[in-house]
Amino acid sequence: MPSIGLHLAVTLFFLAAVLKDAEYKPALLLLPFGLISDLDSFIGVHRATLHNLFILLVPLLVMIALKRLKVSTIKDRYLIFASLLLASHIFLDAFYNGVFLFYPFIEKSYNPLFWFGLKETGLSVLFTWIVPGNVGELVYVITPRPSVPEIPIIGSGIELVILIFALLTFVLKFRVKLSKGLHA
Ligand SMILES: [Zn+2]
Repeated sequence: MPSIGLHLAVTLFFLAAVLKDAEYKPALLLLPFGLISDLDSFIGVHRATLHNLFILLVPLLVMIALKRLKVSTIKDRYLIFASLLLASHIFLDAFYNGVFLFYPFIEKSYNPLFWFGLKETGLSVLFTWIVPGNVGELVYVITPRPSVPEIPIIGSGIELVILIFALLTFVLKFRVKLSKGLHA
């Protein structure tokens, strides 16, 4: 599966891109949303309980509820960003070994494959859904099962380089506020 480091990198790039320079506090509060799905390794069924499409609706339902109650404590766009960060995690995992996208209603793992590139025959695109997930030795993507053998922190040198540049981007983006925070 994509490592925690890669999920973190995507999250950092996204937050640096969508938030304003002064919004470092919302950035820190939104950060966990790119990572929390993996908590289902400990509670519930891994790649299922918090790795399904219905989870994406939770921040949006909170947004609707707050609107109904006429409470404006959390800005709409933060809740939309939270939902997008959850989506980034779920789709990264889906393209790597598959996830139970429609859990708990359908107990099947969806493992889409995507490839776009040059072949001798010219430009080529491949998109397929493998249902249910049939991915070698990893049994848990075929049958929902509690617990997972391991979650890598960083899976490869490539992921490490991506994470370093994501951290750099994030720190540079919020540098003014972060340095003020350190001196305050
Ligand atoms: Zn995950």
